[in-house]
Amino acid sequence: MTSTLPSNLSASKTSPESLKLPVSIRLRQRLEESGTPFLANDNISHILREGELDQLEIEVAGKVRELLRSLVIDIDNDHNTEETAERVARMYLHEVFKGRYHSQPKIASFPNVKKLDEIYTVGPISIRSACSHHLVPILGSCWIGIKPGDRVIGLSKFSRVADWVFSRPHIQEEAVIILADEIERLCAPQGLAILVKAQHYCMKWRGVKEPQTSMVNSVVRGDFRHDPSLKQEFFELVRQQESLLIR
Ligand SMILES: [Zn+2]
Repeated sequence: MTSTLPSNLSASKTSPESLKLPVSIRLRQRLEESGTPFLANDNISHILREGELDQLEIEVAGKVRELLRSLVIDIDNDHNTEETAERVARMYLHEVFKGRYHSQPKIASFPNVKKLDEIYTVGPISIRSACSHHLVPILGSCWIGIKPGDRVIGLSKFSRVADWVFSRPHIQEEAVIILADEIERLCAPQGLAILVKAQHYCMKWRGVKEPQTSMVNSVVRGDFRHDPSLKQEFFELVRQQESLLIR
């Protein structure tokens, strides 16, 4: 069994007594003891020990089965929903919310040997998320503008980190900030700008049922924040990239 936690914490939670508790409760205790937040859009992969994600999948499937029963769906006789609970548990833990339970994909950064300092944008990057309020999809696109610093990362890596960050229950305003923090951690650019345009299914599918409404928000940091002409250039580049799209 491996753990990234300090040994005193690991020891306190492997007693036979604590092992009898459902895995979600053990995880919650560990998170609370170490003062680690576990909000819907936080990643908790670092506290998971070997085998615990499998245990969690079993526990979640059991709870989804109970949810279906509470919705008065005859899962014992309905061939369509027979294995829905297992599918939903797998989907949450390993697909749509994988950014909570899986660690960040390995992303290597390289020294900016040519001292590049021109800005560039990457996009559109498809983003798929779910709203924290209803757990229904948020689907959209994201553009990232970079003025490089001392380190650079490959273009495809922006898609990987965005996918990992967005694959959690979110509100769009916070998702953009979390993505910006991760990119700054990965390559510390001199300037960073992110624009996200997304459709929220809690507005399309339910509630006000507005099929065309989308939400656009952005974050600008470093040189993009201090230099209005650079910020302007970012939005202009995004407009150009959008016009290249095949409709
Ligand atoms: Zn919602």
